[in-house]
Amino acid sequence: MVERISIEHATFGLLGPLSHTPTRTMSVHCVIILIGDRVILVDTGFGTREMLEPNRYLGSDALLSLGIVVDVRLTALHRLAARGIRAEQVTDIVLTHLDADHAGGLHDFPGATVHLSAEELAAYDEPQSRGSYHPYQVSRQTNLTTYGPTDEQWFGLPARSLPLPQGLDAKLIPLPGHSKGHCGVAYRENGQWTLHAGDAYFDARVNFLDTPPGLPLEIAMQADPCERVASLSKLRELRSRYGSEIAMFCAHDHQEYTGWTEGRGRTDPVDVFGRNLPQSST
Ligand SMILES: [Zn+2]
Repeated sequence: MVERISIEHATFGLLGPLSHTPTRTMSVHCVIILIGDRVILVDTGFGTREMLEPNRYLGSDALLSLGIVVDVRLTALHRLAARGIRAEQVTDIVLTHLDADHAGGLHDFPGATVHLSAEELAAYDEPQSRGSYHPYQVSRQTNLTTYGPTDEQWFGLPARSLPLPQGLDAKLIPLPGHSKGHCGVAYRENGQWTLHAGDAYFDARVNFLDTPPGLPLEIAMQADPCERVASLSKLRELRSRYGSEIAMFCAHDHQEYTGWTEGRGRTDPVDVFGRNLPQSST
């Protein structure tokens, strides 16, 4: 029996205020895909370990410079529990990349199969790995499935199809630069494609200007500046050629996040605070 698929958007973390963005708050925009009683996550946000021992697992520099909101109730584990979803129901996690604000929560879902690009795992395993990777995120217990290059194309971009339950149509779209194996995650909902662009851009109002200035945060965090700019160009082309066919958002643009939730009448379903999330303050 083919079960109904429903898709919800939630933020599993908050950062800011950061001066580069008019909203000042940054979301950690993740996707919850419900198929019967199974749950697939696209990115996990920070996990409970970072929130309970932030100085140990994130470090005071990152906490201060990124304004990471430390509250365990923001984690996917707690927010899904508030929604009545148990950790064991999360069977698959698709990752844009392995930075702590996207993959930190892996350890809260030890039974899930984790899908990511082969290049991202290889970069993580390099002796001089990226500073925002943390060794505890990916353990020998983590059930990893990696995907390398294929001949597949998606709207003119290289793509890697994911074998997810119930024929859910989803693909990794390589968008390197922020990290070496960074990917967007494309999925189809009721015939409509959506692309979670991860950290390939940070602010749609700035990054898609004709001559984007380069935001301090994206430059500070980039693994390869040429690849980052090339990936941004690919997304700009995608928006201009296929904007009516593909909806797009990134992880940290809070205005986009509120547009996907409140703006579409699909309020974040796991607001454990019993009130709306912080509003944009311009
Ligand atoms: Zn990020």
